[in-house]
Amino acid sequence: MTTELHVLNPATGERIATVPATTPEDVDAAVTRAARAQRAWAAAAPADRARLLRRFAATVDAHLEELALLEVREAGHTIGNARWEAGNVRDLLDYAAGGVERLTGRQIPVPGGVDVTFLEPLGVVGVIAPWNFPMPIAAWGAAPALAAGNAVLLKPAETTPLTALRLAALALEAGLPEHLLQVLPGEGAVAGAALVDHPGVAKIVFTGSVRVGKGVMARCADRVKRVTLELGGKSPNIVFADADVEAAALAAPMSFLDNAGQDCCARSRVLVQRTAYDRFLELLGPALEEVAVGDPADERTQMGPLISRAQLERVRSYVPDGAEALRGSAPPGPGFWYPPTVLTGLAPDAPAATEEVFGPVAVVLPFDDEDDAVRLANATDYGLSGSVWTRDVGRALRVSRAVQAGNLSVNSHSSVRYWTPFGGFKQSGVGRELGPDALTAFTETKNVFISTEG
Ligand code: NAD
Repeated sequence: MTTELHVLNPATGERIATVPATTPEDVDAAVTRAARAQRAWAAAAPADRARLLRRFAATVDAHLEELALLEVREAGHTIGNARWEAGNVRDLLDYAAGGVERLTGRQIPVPGGVDVTFLEPLGVVGVIAPWNFPMPIAAWGAAPALAAGNAVLLKPAETTPLTALRLAALALEAGLPEHLLQVLPGEGAVAGAALVDHPGVAKIVFTGSVRVGKGVMARCADRVKRVTLELGGKSPNIVFADADVEAAALAAPMSFLDNAGQDCCARSRVLVQRTAYDRFLELLGPALEEVAVGDPADERTQMGPLISRAQLERVRSYVPDGAEALRGSAPPGPGFWYPPTVLTGLAPDAPAATEEVFGPVAVVLPFDDEDDAVRLANATDYGLSGSVWTRDVGRALRVSRAVQAGNLSVNSHSSVRYWTPFGGFKQSGVGRELGPDALTAFTETKNVFISTEG
């Protein structure tokens, strides 16, 4: 069992911090403290809880640049992305704060009395986050859980604990009660597993790989513990010949290169109608070469390094020697760099075409007609997101409805807004985060009948 986590800057490979690793005993003590804090929090007036969450949002806003720079250093994110991510935490806290006083139950007509429902907080919620979007994903779970009256124990990924620790300190600075939001940096198999197994934790929100997510779900089943899973993706980008093919080709690179491809929504399977295939590739090649890959702290940079050496080796393993490909560039020297790569000659069942690479690598595959496009798009166990490019409105809607995925976009690649629901079909996950129902996912519905007779 590791006693310390060494945090590296992925752009240089240098160690930037050492953080003590949480033990199962630490998790147990944290649950006890969180349960106490939660009882007082749930009993506080809704307006007071909302006000404190708004203050937390304002405190994050006041430290936005500091948080963004920390994300650049520990996760190698571009500064532009990192600012968006810190802003996303602020916006989500504000949005969740607006839900506290609106978390209403219902009154249902019944004979002989009155029937009402209450949305009760669950208690202590465990949020287990991955390294690819450390700040937003922590907040997607924590903000609505807190707003719904719960305490939160946040287990960040081994490689990226620093922004989570800073956010918890800012929560205290904003006036949130002590122990309501605690961060437990540590190993997944130790601190994460202890959180999943703890009887005092009512729900787990897990974001990460399908493999680990399945294990978390199985362990939650032992206690019928509530669980939300946000897992991997292998999302299609479907380009019909009737689309603005130039716009589709120019938009394609950043749809799978954002965050160096370490994005669960990356459109890493580009499906292009055969009649537009050659033209699309002609346009895609130069667009790929133009992507600015380099120092993530530089304002002009569009793509930074991968998170770690292990991730770099994993990405390399998906690109066969001598593979037919379009390529961009990556800086030489230290750090975990891989160039933007689009594999063109692969069979639809090649590993790079079916598995989540989680790096700056996409495949392009041709299709014949609408049925063929939908069949190819759905030929995967994943179902997180996807894009459809066409000028035909009917087709855009037909295909969006037919693709088995939770988040579709037409003539664009947008997937994530804090006020719209987000989550996966099939093995991409269970449950939804964000959007108007985000708080409800952290409550139990209680039905109370009050007799009016006698
Ligand atoms: P991972 O599954 O290796 O780790 C995720 C988290 O789980 C980490 O905090 C890790 O420490 C913890 N963990 C590991 N083993 C555990 C165990 N036995 N019990 C409890 N916790 C454990 O994933 P990763 O490599 O950090 O993240 C990349 C994956 O996350 C990709 O597959 C990506 O698609 C997915 N992801 C999904 C979404 C989404 O919203 N659907 C968003 C971002 C990332």
